Amino acid sequence: MSTYSTGIWQKCLQIIATQVNPQSFRTWFEQSFEIDSSDNTLTIEVKSQFIAEWLTTNYNSIIINAVQTVVENDMPVVLAYPKNHGYEHISLASSKEHARTVRDKQGHLNPRYTFDSFVVGEFNRLAFMSAMAVAESPGKTKYNPLYIQGGVGLGKTHLIQAIGHFIEQNYPEKIVRYVSTERFTDRFINSLINKTTSRFREYYRSADVLLIDDVQFFSGKEGIQNEFFHLFNALHQRGQQIVLTSDIPPSRIKGLEDRLLSRFQWGLIVDMQLPEFESRVAILRKKAEADGIELPDEILSLIAQSITSNIRELEGTLIRLLAYASIQGKDITPELTMDVIGQYTRPMLQMGRKITLEDILNIVSEYIGVSTEQIRGKRRTKNVALARQIAMYLSRKFTGSSLKHIGQFFGGRDHSTVVHACKKIPKYKGEVERIVTQIENKLGK
Ligand code: ADP
Ligand code: MG
Repeated sequence: MSTYSTGIWQKCLQIIATQVNPQSFRTWFEQSFEIDSSDNTLTIEVKSQFIAEWLTTNYNSIIINAVQTVVENDMPVVLAYPKNHGYEHISLASSKEHARTVRDKQGHLNPRYTFDSFVVGEFNRLAFMSAMAVAESPGKTKYNPLYIQGGVGLGKTHLIQAIGHFIEQNYPEKIVRYVSTERFTDRFINSLINKTTSRFREYYRSADVLLIDDVQFFSGKEGIQNEFFHLFNALHQRGQQIVLTSDIPPSRIKGLEDRLLSRFQWGLIVDMQLPEFESRVAILRKKAEADGIELPDEILSLIAQSITSNIRELEGTLIRLLAYASIQGKDITPELTMDVIGQYTRPMLQMGRKITLEDILNIVSEYIGVSTEQIRGKRRTKNVALARQIAMYLSRKFTGSSLKHIGQFFGGRDHSTVVHACKKIPKYKGEVERIVTQIENKLGK
C-alpha cells in the first residue's frame, strides 16, 4: 500500500505544466500515468521507450523537483514503458546524481558530435575539410587559428567538437580543451572572485588544442578579451592549435579589440552555409539511422522541403515526428508528417503585422518546396502551377490586394488567372487542402 495518498503524479503534472511549454507538455507528459507509489518509489507509465529516454535526458530535474515539491521529500522515480509484451524500466537520476552528471559533462565533448556523424555537402565542405586538416595535424597547418563561421544551428559546435574527438583519439597525449565563450567568461569571473586566476590560466595554457565555441560572445567584454588575448598569444607562440567558432565574421563582432580581431584573421576563416535539399535529406536519413529507424524517401523529402531554416530545426522536426508517431501508436505516413510539420513550425510572421504578398510568396515557397523565382516565373509544370495558384488564393484571402495587383505580382498574369485560382484551390481535398490549411494557420488565421 502506498503511504502517500494517490495522485502524486497528477499533482506533479500540474506543476510541470506550468514549467514547460504546452506543446512539449502535450507531447511528453500528457499520456503518462502513475502506476505505483509503494516502497517509496514513484512508478510512472509512459507510452514508449523513446518517450522514457527523452524524459530522462531532457526533463530529469523538472520531474525530480516536482516530485520533491509534492511529497516534500526525495523520492526515486522510475519510468515504465511497454516492451516485448511486458514492461521495462528506467530510473531518473536523483537531484544529487543529476547535478553530478551535469557537472561531469561540462567541458567534455558530446559523444554524438563526431566526424562520422557529420554529413558533408556543398554547404559545409570547405569547413569540414579545414576541420579535418586541423584535426589530422593540429598546430601544423597554416590554419591557426581556424575560424568556423556559420548561422545558428548549422553545425559549428558539432564540427569543433568533432575536431576534439578526433585529436583525443589519434593523439592521446595531447590535451584538448573545449569551452564555450560564455563558460570561459564565467570561469574567469569566478576565478577572480575566488582568487584562483592562476589556476584558471594554468588550466587553459596547458592546452595543446584549444577549442572555443561562439566567440561572438566576446563582444564588448574588455576584461575577458584581454585575458583571452594573452592566452591566445601563449598558445600560438608554442604552436598549439586554436579553433574558434562564431555566428558572424570577426569584423562584425562589435567591440572586439583590434589586436584580437587581427589574430582571429591570422589563420583561415571558413563559412558554413544553409544545407541544400539533398544535404537536408542526407542529414535526416543519417539521424533516423542513428535511432535505428528507416524512413521512406518520401517522408524524408517532405521534411527536407518544409524545414529549410537550419539543421537543428530539421533534427527537431524528425524527433517530434518519431515521438508523435510513437505516442499515438501510428505509422509514419506523409499525412502524419505534414501534421507534425504544420503543427510545430514557428509562426513566421510577427503578431499583428499586415501580411504582404512577399510573405505569402515566401511561405508558399517554403512549404511547397518551389522557389520564389519559379512561383513568380513563367513555367507551368504541375507543382509550380499549383504553388502559384495557392499563393494567389491566399493573397486574395489575406492581403486585400486587388486581383490585378496579385496577378501582376505573381509573374505578370491576368486577373482572370487569379480568379481561376481562387475558385479552384478551395475545392481540393487531401494533401493540397492540408497544406493550404497549414499555411493559413501559419499566417495566423
Ligand atoms: P551551431 O553550433 O552552429 O548552432 P550545432 O553544431 O549545435 O549548430 O548543430 C545543431 C544540430 O544539428 C546538432 O544536433 C548537430 O549534430 C546537427 N548537425 C549540424 N550539422 C550537421 C551535419 N553536417 N551533419 C549531421 N548533423 C549535423
Ligand atoms: Mg553552437
